[in-house]
Amino acid sequence: MRIGCPREIKNREYRVGLTPESAKELIANGHEVWVETGAGAGIGAYDAQYVASGAKVIDKVEDIFAECEMIVKVKEPQPEEIARLREGQILYTYLHLAPDAAQTEGLVKSGCTAIAYETVTGPRGGLPLLKPMSQVAGRMSIQAGANALEKVHGGRGVLLGGVPGVLPGKVVIIGGGVVGFNAAQMSAGLGASTMIMDLDPEVLEKVGTHFESRASTRFASKANLEQAVAQADMVVGAVLVPGAAAPKLVSRAMLKTMKPGAVLVDVAIDQGGCFETSKPTTHDNPTYVVDDIVHYCVANMPGAVSRTSTYALNNVTLPHAIRIANLGWKEAMRRDRHLAQGLNVHAGRVTYPAVASELGYDL
Ligand code: NAD
Repeated sequence: MRIGCPREIKNREYRVGLTPESAKELIANGHEVWVETGAGAGIGAYDAQYVASGAKVIDKVEDIFAECEMIVKVKEPQPEEIARLREGQILYTYLHLAPDAAQTEGLVKSGCTAIAYETVTGPRGGLPLLKPMSQVAGRMSIQAGANALEKVHGGRGVLLGGVPGVLPGKVVIIGGGVVGFNAAQMSAGLGASTMIMDLDPEVLEKVGTHFESRASTRFASKANLEQAVAQADMVVGAVLVPGAAAPKLVSRAMLKTMKPGAVLVDVAIDQGGCFETSKPTTHDNPTYVVDDIVHYCVANMPGAVSRTSTYALNNVTLPHAIRIANLGWKEAMRRDRHLAQGLNVHAGRVTYPAVASELGYDL
């Protein structure tokens, strides 16, 4: 199969669908890989590296869309990319169609076969093609919050790990799922006093067993949250209620009980945020202050660490890409019902039930 990897054109997207190593792997499986000039520049993977991997570097993106049977990307196709998709062509990327009627209609009209990373399931449950981005955001949340805690950035001037003779900072992580677990690893690793709060006893048990004395766990009742938030130097919002907006767990009134210069990092901002005063920010201008509390609410945190994020994403997307290329998408999905969950649009129809019902398509 001939596989194409265009340069991402969404504003500020530096990741790339295939690393040179992934291209090499596909080529070793007997396929051809065409990569657009400069596609990997945002992760420091230059054209020469793709050529060394055996890929062809192509100047005109039109040629990639015209000649390749499968297009591998990161972000949902932009309007000019949708216009280039054709009948029978496979598109393998993040799509997030439910809130995006225009994109869905474009994909339906193109006749392509669109496989969405975010709906592929895993044998042990969960959404394995989304997980690495939660891991990245969780780990980054502590780095971003530590930065915001510096006095020059509006914070309290607290070093999370402390120093000999001075107590470390206090980090409260609300939600002990993928983001929360990874945030706790960074926080505990830095030597900060770390608390993970969740409503699910199994989650509390899992993180409690893992971290032992390096982090404490606490049931996320309203009273416990109020107490923990008032004492924290940094609060990380890492909750998820599947299919719903994030619950508002820190009210504006609670900010008044916090230490001036404390930091809120709202990773759940992509689901509306779990602090009442959260609003989405960008990497250009990541923080703002409400009632002396610094807020960091960047909605696409992994984009800032494009190289790590691309490699983490390729680790989980490549095995499916290889099977799709080796077997054809139909046979690959027949053999793997988890991959089959990724099919969102095929031959002019929406095939993913949640998207169809949300946007009013017949299945
Ligand atoms: P997850 O499902 O693995 O974990 C969510 C946890 O929240 C679960 O353990 C659940 O029990 C807990 N929870 C739910 N309601 C709660 C409540 N009221 N109080 C305390 N805990 C509660 O989800 P995840 O992968 O860790 O993702 C967390 C959030 O981060 C999601 O909204 C996700 O979309 C978001 N995210 C954002 C970025 C970004 O760049 N900002 C990147 C990746 C993920």
